[in-house]
Amino acid sequence: MLKLKDLQAFYGNIQALKGISLEIQEGEIISLIGANGAGKSTTLMTISGIVPAREGEILFKDKPINKLPPDKIAALGISQVPEGRRIFPYLTVMENLDMGAFLRNDKSGVKQDLEYVLELFPILAERRNQAGGTLSGGEQQMLAISRAIMTRPKLLLLDEPSLGLAPIITKQIFEIIKKFNKESNTTIFLVEQNANLALQVADRGYVMENGVITISDTGENLLVNEDVKKAYLGI
Ligand code: ATP
Repeated sequence: MLKLKDLQAFYGNIQALKGISLEIQEGEIISLIGANGAGKSTTLMTISGIVPAREGEILFKDKPINKLPPDKIAALGISQVPEGRRIFPYLTVMENLDMGAFLRNDKSGVKQDLEYVLELFPILAERRNQAGGTLSGGEQQMLAISRAIMTRPKLLLLDEPSLGLAPIITKQIFEIIKKFNKESNTTIFLVEQNANLALQVADRGYVMENGVITISDTGENLLVNEDVKKAYLGI
């Protein structure tokens, strides 16, 4: 579904991506793990067209997308939940969800998806008329993910869903991400510093260090890989 070929990206003179290659098959959950500043967020932002790729290629369903603007990339079915959530704080939960469906005109599909996300995250149903900004961090993350699901994405990009959340909430969110993937067959590319949880839900994973991919394997194998254990799992 998605192929990155020797991707390079820069912020001025700083090279954040130094030739990234990876592949994601339809229906997979792929986790990209790595330390702070490794280039994980930049990888996602390059896919969604926010940071330009200076060299290399991004293929989505075999078509190059690296020269397209972000709105055209989103219209192809690539939806990103950015780091730090960024919901609309003054809009209610329901209004935030409506914003996710803004570009859709299949009314019955939208209604169906709305019922589905409120079932996935029942707390959002309880808080449906509350302003987004008054929700807890975990609830805001659930809302941000739900808003992205409302676009009915083909590829969902999640940037550090665990950021700033209590471990028990993070675990709950990851379980729901896995459930969503299984039930909808939506492809998910997950960027995380919480390597343990990210690899537990992943079919396959990539490890990133200083702008390059250093290891790739199944989630299961990475969890027992000695280098990964030492550097990212604290074992
Ligand atoms: P984090 O978990 O902290 O978000 P990351 O792995 O996602 O880390 P990136 O945010 O992609 O890493 O950053 C990769 C490199 O690019 C780092 O060296 C970072 O300092 C640099 N960088 C990121 N954003 C900018 C920016 N807007 N301007 C300049 N340099 C940046």
